[in-house]
Amino acid sequence: MALIVQKFGGSSVANAERVRNVAGRVVKTYREGNDVVVVLSAQGDTTDELIEKAKEISEKPSKREMDMLLSTGEQISIALMAMAIEKLGCQAVSFTGQQVGIKTNTIHGNARIEDIDGSRIRAELNRKRIVIVAGFQGIDEEGNITTLGRGGSDTTAVALAAILNADLCEIYTDVDGVYTADPRIVPDARKLEDISFGEMLELASLGARVLHNRSVELAKKYNVRMVVRSSLNNHKGTLVKEVNEVEKMMIKGVAYDKDIARISILAVRDIPGVAYRIFKFLADAGINVDIILQSIGRGDTKDISFTVAKSQLTETIDLINRNLDDIGAADVSFSQDVAKVSVVGAGMVNHPGVAATMFEALAEADINIHMISTSEIKISCLVRTDEAEKAVQAVHKKFRLGESEQAEEQAG
Ligand code: ASP
Ligand code: MG
Repeated sequence: MALIVQKFGGSSVANAERVRNVAGRVVKTYREGNDVVVVLSAQGDTTDELIEKAKEISEKPSKREMDMLLSTGEQISIALMAMAIEKLGCQAVSFTGQQVGIKTNTIHGNARIEDIDGSRIRAELNRKRIVIVAGFQGIDEEGNITTLGRGGSDTTAVALAAILNADLCEIYTDVDGVYTADPRIVPDARKLEDISFGEMLELASLGARVLHNRSVELAKKYNVRMVVRSSLNNHKGTLVKEVNEVEKMMIKGVAYDKDIARISILAVRDIPGVAYRIFKFLADAGINVDIILQSIGRGDTKDISFTVAKSQLTETIDLINRNLDDIGAADVSFSQDVAKVSVVGAGMVNHPGVAATMFEALAEADINIHMISTSEIKISCLVRTDEAEKAVQAVHKKFRLGESEQAEEQAG
């Protein structure tokens, strides 16, 4: 007997038929003798629709009330699922984040889980009930409802798997697993059998929208065995795990992210402590900065550019404008016409030619690179938004990721 956490995304519970389908899967797992904790997202496009509703009322609703509103989507799903499971003759009980004690910090709209009191869930499992928990939500110290950021139900699932010491955390979605690239853009993209936490983390945060990146961070930290698979068939899915024993594949995949903006702070005084001040302001405001580029100084000033999520653009610009004097800069500018294209693979550490191969692919496709950043397992290039798809295709092809056995000497 095992304890299994099963998370189902919005498309998997989009309508009554799908809810029943998922209920069937859950009950099957339960009847095989397992304890099952189910985590659900809001049905279909519910979250987007709720955001639209808010916009009809106010252009800038308070973040607290947004969380109050958005958390309702998941509450609908869990109640319906409990009913569907009961209808199949099993006992189920649904809970909001608050009811199972998912405590977060107070950053509305992007809260982080700080602690979970698993006692209520354990008690219900002991009573042989299937426990259904609303994903994406928690409560802060003062009891305000918070949400974990778009796609955050994955993180709820992994966090629960971690504290309950689950044997497996299954993330069910509408795709068969993790692919070498988005199959909608690259038709010959292949499904990966497995991927390491590190690689998955890069792919997730790079916009391979399969998993919420916090969920992968947590899975890595607590070594939660995680599988990404489809709720619409019985294919095996992709296993996300600690190490790849057979790390043959130098490059695992190509990801892109259009949801970013570039900000440039211009004519910053070229003295010690300036970068610190800028990024301290941003960090204190909870703004995540990605690629950073500092120009060589000219005269006694330099420019500092970086990227942020589009959703944080206005906030970032406001913040910098308010603090231009403190920072010691002349002006700030931004562009939303940027996308980040990245290759990811743990094998690249030992293969010096990866960057060159990527740049070659982009050069052949006549795509200009605006910023570059690298880590041990990824290389990212900033390109124009309308060139993102073309860039992904070119890079995927260059690394021959569509072929079953990747040529090892590709970039060697
Ligand atoms: N319903 C939320 C969203 O659409 C959370 C989730 O689906 O994981 O972002
Ligand atoms: Mg998701």
